[in-house]
Amino acid sequence: MSARGERVANHELLKQVNAALVYRLIDTQGPISRVDIAQISALAPASVTNITRQLLEHGLIKEVAQQASTGGRPAISLTTEQTAFLFISCRLGREELQCSVMDLSDTVHQHTVSKLQRHDAEGIVAALSQAIQQQLQTVRPEQQAIAIAITMAGLVDPQTGTVLYSPNHQIANLRLAEQLQTVTDLPIYIGNDTRALALAEYYLGTAQKCQDFILVSIHHGAGAGIVSNGQLLLGKNRNVGEIGHIQIDPFGNQCHCGNFGCLETFVSNKAIVAQTKALLERGHSSNLDSNNLSIEIICKAALADDPIAVQIIRQTGNHLGRVLAILVNLFNPEKILLAGEIVQSAAVLFPALQQQIQRQSLPSFNQDLQLEKARFQGQGTMGGYALIKRALHESDLLQRIMQPGMDNA
Ligand SMILES: [Zn+2]
Repeated sequence: MSARGERVANHELLKQVNAALVYRLIDTQGPISRVDIAQISALAPASVTNITRQLLEHGLIKEVAQQASTGGRPAISLTTEQTAFLFISCRLGREELQCSVMDLSDTVHQHTVSKLQRHDAEGIVAALSQAIQQQLQTVRPEQQAIAIAITMAGLVDPQTGTVLYSPNHQIANLRLAEQLQTVTDLPIYIGNDTRALALAEYYLGTAQKCQDFILVSIHHGAGAGIVSNGQLLLGKNRNVGEIGHIQIDPFGNQCHCGNFGCLETFVSNKAIVAQTKALLERGHSSNLDSNNLSIEIICKAALADDPIAVQIIRQTGNHLGRVLAILVNLFNPEKILLAGEIVQSAAVLFPALQQQIQRQSLPSFNQDLQLEKARFQGQGTMGGYALIKRALHESDLLQRIMQPGMDNA
């Protein structure tokens, strides 16, 4: 590229970065005046006027009159438009596909759940294509669909929209975004479900305004989303937080990753049910029925002081607590949020977790640490909401909406 070409490109990039900065400020701190935006962003007032004019033209923000605290003429402030923009959020689960049509205020307009018939690449692409097409048909002409978000367990490359590995389906190195582009021109954002839910807690949940926290999710496996200094931690290949494969016992059961005694082989819904069944079959006294066990039943029994259930949940707390202590030592978070059915046993589980964290992490790191339930439990499509929000805040989706021609997409 010529020197002039480079300057033009840099100038264009700078404009996009500044537009995203202004949008983000209005979205997180609005209603906010242009004067305050200029002050906080350190942008020239003329730039702020220019950028807000463009955002207004595309309907991304709107003006609201705010009564000044001193009385007198109401001042004009800016806030983001939430309800005019719709997106489709899909969560690809193990057995089912959840699909929501949502707006930016996180209101769900439509929600469908369909059972997955096939688990190979062709079947997964077909199920997602069908669900997306169906949901797009529900968008009314006066509304604007802006994007598709897809979250799932496993390793994904959001940059290329590729699913690298899935623990639940027979898909590897599947260029999912590219394949779905045959049913829609809308931008498609793909992410790991636990990492996306951590972001959802940051935008709307228990970790709002919290710059350092970790969401730990226990379901079929165990995973974590780590937010450090206000940013979701991502490595070069965009995947970190696979805590499920930290080794707890070198002589434990074999894990699906090939190793032995990973956290997931002790702390996952399936493992907890299996451990309970094994104790019951040894003849220990309990009100539980080994033929009718689920994580919910075990949690409930633990709260009712059933000795086997209490023992299992405490043991789960000990194993998971050791891994949480490692996370505390590494990242010194303000909060750890827990998601999954297991939080139903919080009264028994959390003290066991606290004890391990206190024993095995630095006192100055753990003394103010808050251990809490995550806000979003079983609302899988909230992860997609966070991917869309981030794409707006970090410029990519914002630019796509502001491109000419997007209005008719
Ligand atoms: Zn493993």
